Amino acid sequence: MAERLVKASCLLAVIAMVMLPSCRPEDLRRLLLVSFDGFRWDYVQLVATPNFHALMEEGVQVKRMENTYITKTFPNHYSLVTGLHAESHGVVANIMYDPDLNMTFDMDGTEARDPRWWNQATPLWVTNQRAGGRSGAAMWPGSDVEIQQTYPTHFLPYNASMSFEDRVRTLVGWFAQKEQPVSFGVLYWEEPDASGHRLGPDSPEMKPIIADIDAKLGFLRDELKSAGLYDQVNLVVTSDHGMVQLSTERIVELDEYLSRDLYTWIDKSPVVGILPKEGKLEEVYHSLANANPHLHVYKREEIPERFHYMHNDRIMPIIIEAEEGWTVVRNKSDGFMLGNHGYDNALSSMHPVFVARGPAFQHGYSKDSARAVDLYPLMCHILALPPESNNGSLSGLRDLLREATPPTQAPPPTLAPHPHVTEPAYASVVGSLLGVALVLGFLLVFLKQVTRRQLPATPIGNLEISQPLLQDHLDM
Ligand SMILES: [Zn+2]
Repeated sequence: MAERLVKASCLLAVIAMVMLPSCRPEDLRRLLLVSFDGFRWDYVQLVATPNFHALMEEGVQVKRMENTYITKTFPNHYSLVTGLHAESHGVVANIMYDPDLNMTFDMDGTEARDPRWWNQATPLWVTNQRAGGRSGAAMWPGSDVEIQQTYPTHFLPYNASMSFEDRVRTLVGWFAQKEQPVSFGVLYWEEPDASGHRLGPDSPEMKPIIADIDAKLGFLRDELKSAGLYDQVNLVVTSDHGMVQLSTERIVELDEYLSRDLYTWIDKSPVVGILPKEGKLEEVYHSLANANPHLHVYKREEIPERFHYMHNDRIMPIIIEAEEGWTVVRNKSDGFMLGNHGYDNALSSMHPVFVARGPAFQHGYSKDSARAVDLYPLMCHILALPPESNNGSLSGLRDLLREATPPTQAPPPTLAPHPHVTEPAYASVVGSLLGVALVLGFLLVFLKQVTRRQLPATPIGNLEISQPLLQDHLDM
């Protein structure tokens, strides 16, 4: 009898290992997402960046991450945590106008904390908390807003003067706390974007700025190591966009072509929304359409499909996009910067860096390119969270994961040109439930056989009762 029970236990253990691939150690389910604003993909090749390179060796790299149009800060930070293109998450620009609300959003204004600008999507920290997890946010755009009636479990109200080191100490502390640690964290730092605008990315003065970012990444690594979390937390380091060099030789002044009385100017170069005055759309469009060879001018409904930048009322009826490296202003009093971003997201100059390491990721694996919207389903997979509807696909980044990380049984990727296509992760949950049910079923049948052989006279009514209960579970 004892020998048989041991054999049965061993058999069940093997079956459980085979049937329950979705059960993972808790340490696979912690993730820290870091953004260094405006860190272009090739900065790691321009300057010695030993900490970035250490992460590549210890983990994975996507050399150029294709981000979302427009390649500005707020749209892309919201895309990273929602997996949605800007037309679908509604934060379509750093400065935008909503005709229904009759309100203007400016990322630097207090209205940026009005949830109505953000509620068209659900960021990952909200999904994490709805599933029972806890989240920590250090200055990530939108993370101090009560989106979908929910703040992050812990967050820092935006304060540009708070040092990187203080942000890191606070955030690592939330991961490290013994009671109710966070499982998902987001961390934002304003550089090298600010210096890239001021100096231009081609300036030799950018080199110490980039080296300083690498040192900051080193500080983060050290803090995680000190807290005993370095091999526990999945660390993803990326950015919202790149940066391109501008020149005073490459400026287009719109006043040369169009009277300001005919339209309202929304946002800033290089992609500007034009809101024509009532009845003036055709006149404005024809004044601009062929005005200057360094401008692309689109009616909203003619914006190229690949931008996924059409289906939202916050996208203005006419869009002007400057050619790479060009600046569009009303006139030169609007100001000028030596570096900028926001251009076509197919341009490599707009692409951000991407490195990651941790228990979920391969070691020393690199690939040339991927889409930033695919990061969201990857993070959901690592955190074992059901993704909200999104434009990404786990298949785009699954190769970054260690083989030991069990795959979800998601269907083949659906490339979603349009809003709200879901990458289901429910398959893994259903798979786990089926696995549990089958193992329990096997156990019951096996014990029934054993019991019948050992104790032929004993009633087995209780085991019979269990069958319909299991059936109920399978119907979930
Ligand atoms: Zn910027």
